[in-house]
Amino acid sequence: MTITAKHQILIVGGGTAGITVAARLLRKGYTDVAVIEPSDQHYYQPLWTLVGGGQAKAATTARPESSVMPSGATWIRKAASVFDPNANTVTCADGATYEYDALVVCPGIQLDWNRTDGLAEAVGHNGVSSNYRFDLAPRTWDFIRETRSGSAVFMMPSGPIKCGGAPQKIAYLASDYWRKQGVLDKIDVHLVLPTPRAFGIPAIADNLDKVIAGYGIQLHTMSEVTAVDGDSKKVTLTAVGEGGTDGTLAYDVLHAVPRQSAPDWIKTSPLSTGDDNGYVELDKFTLQHVRYPNVFGLGDAGSTPNSKTGAAIRKQAPVVVENIDAFLTGRPLQARYDGYSSCPIVTSSHDMLLAEFDYDMKLEPSFPILDPTKPHRPYWYMKKYGLPWLYWNLMLKGLV
Ligand SMILES: Cc1cc2nc3c(=O)[nH]c(=O)nc-3n(C[C@H](O)[C@H](O)[C@H](O)COP(=O)(O)OP(=O)(O)OC[C@H]3O[C@@H](n4cnc5c(N)ncnc54)[C@H](O)[C@@H]3O)c2cc1C
Repeated sequence: MTITAKHQILIVGGGTAGITVAARLLRKGYTDVAVIEPSDQHYYQPLWTLVGGGQAKAATTARPESSVMPSGATWIRKAASVFDPNANTVTCADGATYEYDALVVCPGIQLDWNRTDGLAEAVGHNGVSSNYRFDLAPRTWDFIRETRSGSAVFMMPSGPIKCGGAPQKIAYLASDYWRKQGVLDKIDVHLVLPTPRAFGIPAIADNLDKVIAGYGIQLHTMSEVTAVDGDSKKVTLTAVGEGGTDGTLAYDVLHAVPRQSAPDWIKTSPLSTGDDNGYVELDKFTLQHVRYPNVFGLGDAGSTPNSKTGAAIRKQAPVVVENIDAFLTGRPLQARYDGYSSCPIVTSSHDMLLAEFDYDMKLEPSFPILDPTKPHRPYWYMKKYGLPWLYWNLMLKGLV
């Protein structure tokens, strides 16, 4: 096999995780860091919720990839397609092959629109949209704004997804908007969740129940939308466990979230767990691959059982960098990730609940002065202004 180039550290994916890790490695003194990333745009996805809720412009969530690529990193502007971890190589779609001493795998998650019957055909028109796509988040807001009566359905699929709170946040933003417009009582709002409650921590679920009741939202727990009929504007609900709902719901507006899994080319690679989700099989504490010691991973493509968020990556990236450094210098891997993630749940156009927790669902509040189980106004300002600033100016530069 012809090797196109060799880099000491090769990163696959230049999204939230890849850029943060590259910046931190360069700050640590590594000089030969390359990032394989095909896209010329980089997105701050957490703001897509506010775009769908009419509170932010889509354009503010995208920047050229060239502007976030750390100076000193080599940008390989291609899509990776094949791993050969025994030969320490990654081959790209154009056939070029890159060799590495250490590899970081973080190409994000795949949106499986086809795993919900009818969804791929319906999404984007006739009232069906999704904040999970940059181009569609503004359509969500169009559909919400146009709705004055009828029925609205907000759905969350089963299985791991990125930002597990996003499917319900948009239900609250929409309901708050409709209430302010004086039309909420003319709209039947349904929130369909595959989980037993709106959140996995009881104290937070109790407070979300109050938010849900306050808007008059009909909550369908242990239920999943398994089919969308875009022509007759109906969804099929299937119970996924005890207490779930089977049946159909008509909608005028549907906020859809697709099922998600590892990218197909990861699933079929030697790095995968080999199960249906197919994520990169990592030690959940060290973030090292369980079979290939010079391979590390983080972010949405990793198998670690944390909630898949950018907030998790902020805590994972320093662990990956410390442990790569230990590996390359022959020291034991001592840095450990505790599963920290945060779920900023926007509950109205000016309030937010900031759930921060670890693998054991133990609360880890950054601001213990504010009750972490309740919505607070300052958090909303943090979500709209503080966190995007922190992302572009500090996190992607390896400073936090
Ligand atoms: C609607 C929505 C709301 C969210 N809200 C929040 C929130 O409030 N808080 C929060 O912390 N997180 C939130 N998130 C989640 C957060 O955005 C993700 O968890 C995070 O971006 C994951 O980072 P990543 O680097 O793993 O993947 P990404 O940032 O998605 O990056 C993956 C990169 O890999 C690249 N790639 C893909 N295929 C290949 C290939 N073959 N070869 C090389 N590169 C490839 C892609 O182009 C992309 O640049 C939200 C996400 C969405 C969609």
